[in-house]
Amino acid sequence: MTLKLHNTLTSTVDTFTPLTEGKVTLYTCGPTVYDYPHVGNWASFIYWDILVRTLIASGYTVERVMNLTDVGHLVSDADEGEDKLEKGARRENKTAWEVAEFYAEDFLAGMEKLGLLPPEHIVRATDFITQQIDLVRILKEKGFTYQTTDGIYFDTAKFPAYANFARLDLEAQKAGARVEASDEKRQPWDFALWKFTEPGITRDMQWETPDDLLELPPIGQEYGVGSKGHANRTLTPYSLLPTSNDEVVYGFPGWHLECSAMAMSILGPTIDIHTGGIDHIPVHHTNEIAQSEAASEARFANFWLHNNHLKIDGGKISKSLGNGYTLQDLEAKGFSALDLRLFILQGQYTSEGNFTFENLTAAQNRLKNWRDYAVLRHQIHDGLHDDDKKNDDHETYVSLQAASGALREALQNNLNTPEALRIVDEAFARVDGKSLDRIHRHGLVSFLESVDELLGVQLIDTTPDIDDEAKRTILERERAREAKDWVKSDQLRDTLARAGISVRDMPSGTVWSRI
Ligand SMILES: [Zn+2]
Repeated sequence: MTLKLHNTLTSTVDTFTPLTEGKVTLYTCGPTVYDYPHVGNWASFIYWDILVRTLIASGYTVERVMNLTDVGHLVSDADEGEDKLEKGARRENKTAWEVAEFYAEDFLAGMEKLGLLPPEHIVRATDFITQQIDLVRILKEKGFTYQTTDGIYFDTAKFPAYANFARLDLEAQKAGARVEASDEKRQPWDFALWKFTEPGITRDMQWETPDDLLELPPIGQEYGVGSKGHANRTLTPYSLLPTSNDEVVYGFPGWHLECSAMAMSILGPTIDIHTGGIDHIPVHHTNEIAQSEAASEARFANFWLHNNHLKIDGGKISKSLGNGYTLQDLEAKGFSALDLRLFILQGQYTSEGNFTFENLTAAQNRLKNWRDYAVLRHQIHDGLHDDDKKNDDHETYVSLQAASGALREALQNNLNTPEALRIVDEAFARVDGKSLDRIHRHGLVSFLESVDELLGVQLIDTTPDIDDEAKRTILERERAREAKDWVKSDQLRDTLARAGISVRDMPSGTVWSRI
């Protein structure tokens, strides 16, 4: 079966083919490491993990780059306000470097808890300053940049396809644009490639702006360019800007630049798939495309995948409402990262999701139910499956094998995770209530492996066998039942419950699961 994905470039579900047969290059916009990620942030990474798993199951090798934004992501999309990292540093009385390190570690630990496959390259913006500067240099040489008092900007007027990707109505944007402090911009949607450190400000993270990137004013003249539309405005030159080649101008990269620089320097000018959140379309990804394609003169990505918003209780996630739940918040309420993972997979990435604790509880119950089927593998005895018994369990073998195939096909159909989850439910429902000798052990194990490989829910890892003592207690209880010693049988049931094990008495014998 072919793999189909919703491509933002075409607004349709298209058949995927990579540039190189058998190999996929993938770029995922990563987190800004200045705070704990909330459930909405994690949703995106969970969906792209499913994408990677589906690509692998479709026979591709995947080379993926994900960035950690540790500099330059300003509070406002309009290249204004504080750098989120520097703000985090003030909040926590640390340096921006310490803040980045702390939250990068937290993010990587969260990835592991959620069972997200590690990308081949997890790279930090601060480790790619040279590549980012090189990209600015290429854009400057090709005439796509201009300088203002606070930085080097991309001139979107020089890139006529700028509005195409997000189908932007730039005229309407212009009418609604506020006159900003940085209105030296030639167009309101021009964006910073490189920002100069503001005068009087000491940044933890800043780098020397190479001289060849700077347009120096003739000595003695007032500094400032590009005040188009605001001819009467007096520009005050920043004291840090040079009046001669002897002075150093410090600066830092604009947020959008890192993704283009990393993707192109590691994966090449054109990548197969680029992923991110739907909120990245109008600004961040539009800007990534403009600067990448202006520099390389090639298409930046063939497929763009975007996950829709996750709402909380039907509304927006917002700091002021305190509903930006983190993994730590969920754990404190008794939910695991894998519960969250299954909750997210209950919706398809293209649909808007709604997080409520009720829905999360439903996902937690579903996962518990799946684990109850997973532990059956410890209770089916291989000895029962000699040749003359073969027909007894053949039916479950066939149906579980078919379910593995259907599961993969559901994901190959535009990552239809809700359908995939239904297929798992139905496969287990067909096993439900069957006596153990009618369940094909190898068939069950191989199905569990498929579910884990494709959905990453770790059914096998989270359901180890019980210890020998518990097994002896179960046998002892069975003997007590045979002897109709109900008091002892109940006592032994309580002993097992204290060890976190519950037992069900089926016509074919006792079946245990974990509480
Ligand atoms: Zn990005």
